[in-house]
Amino acid sequence: MASLSEGRLLLRGASQVVRVASNGERVKLKGAMSDLAILQAEEGQGLSVAVDSQGRIAAVGTDAEVASLYEETTWENVLDVTGMSVVPGLVDAHTHPVWAGDRVHEFAMKLAGASYMEVHAAGGGIHFTVNATKNASQEDLLELFEQRLQRMARAGTTLVECKSGYGLDTETELKMLRVMELARSHSPVSISSTFCGAHAVPKGMTSENATRKVIEEMLPAVVHAVQQGQLKVDSADVFCEKGVFDVAQSRRIMQACKDAGFLLNFHADELTALGGAEMGASLGAEAMSHLEEVSPAGVSAMAESGSVAVILPTTAYILRLPAPPVRAMIDQGVPVALGTDFNPNAFCLSMPLVMHLACVLFRMNLREALTAATLHAAHSLRRAHDHGSIEVGKLGNLVVVDSPRWEHLVYQLGGTDDTIAHVVNQGRVVYSKESM
Ligand SMILES: [Zn+2]
Repeated sequence: MASLSEGRLLLRGASQVVRVASNGERVKLKGAMSDLAILQAEEGQGLSVAVDSQGRIAAVGTDAEVASLYEETTWENVLDVTGMSVVPGLVDAHTHPVWAGDRVHEFAMKLAGASYMEVHAAGGGIHFTVNATKNASQEDLLELFEQRLQRMARAGTTLVECKSGYGLDTETELKMLRVMELARSHSPVSISSTFCGAHAVPKGMTSENATRKVIEEMLPAVVHAVQQGQLKVDSADVFCEKGVFDVAQSRRIMQACKDAGFLLNFHADELTALGGAEMGASLGAEAMSHLEEVSPAGVSAMAESGSVAVILPTTAYILRLPAPPVRAMIDQGVPVALGTDFNPNAFCLSMPLVMHLACVLFRMNLREALTAATLHAAHSLRRAHDHGSIEVGKLGNLVVVDSPRWEHLVYQLGGTDDTIAHVVNQGRVVYSKESM
């Protein structure tokens, strides 16, 4: 353990530090998913986490151990968290956060029983958002996006996957990706960005023509912007679904994106069992999302390929979809992650709420839900070397829960304004609860 002359943050007095992992593992499969590394303070003792001036975790241990290591250190910030617990910063593995025009009017239609595809056919759904997003200025989109990032941070998210996909034309897709780039420098939440130009088939176009347009026009434009240093894009996504892009078209799009150097992280087997998971596994996709209708063969293929299953309980809840086979996935060794799927259909920015839904609706236990919302979500973005657990060398991303037991974060349904005391990103406090 290196000595520090200056450190960014010393957090001390904690009752519990839920590290999630402590051996550098990037996934915890099967039973290991609920076998978390947890430090528990003994009576009269507290626990510390030290973050160095680069924003990385320097030490985790008892207050006395950490204090003896850093006697000479000057801290930028010391946070007394006596009686509280600490978990890793949450990672939201799937969002669509850049858009204008909410769809609150459709919520009533859906409650009255309209299906996703019926809302779509009535001129609502994604095309409503596409029009509003096309017509919005870059400045307006940025302002909306920044407000959403603030709300995510307050709910404990420190890394979020963000998709484009409400442009469906090259210009608007690039505008969305630029908005992410502009937010990146000062966002309280770190951003992993995804090109999702194949989110829907534009009006008046066949899916075949849309497939060609994504591969031949949009993708080269995004690659060009990346090469020019104007954008940073990590992953690529396609909505592989009946009536959108079929498996063969999705495969062509994903292969082209893989060849261009992007990670593959796409929507598979949400509404129909198409074999999207099998296709993704055969391409070595880093992650696939939704999977409500994944087949047993699809689950086996994902276990084999190591693709992360990104489970999105809000969408299944709002659309009343059948549950994805989460227990079978965990039992067979698929790394399961969680995301809010924040979008105009599922307006949820809170990972603790998603964890609650995953436990109740999909029968995950609390520890599995935490692994899914931290380490596995980070691994789905291939950021588990830096994110997802409280380990020396990783980024100092922490959520301080205002209770001696971390489970209150999930147990107090929708109560993060009270349960979260502080959120820390790279050693900087980005949110603190107002003291009453
Ligand atoms: Zn989605």
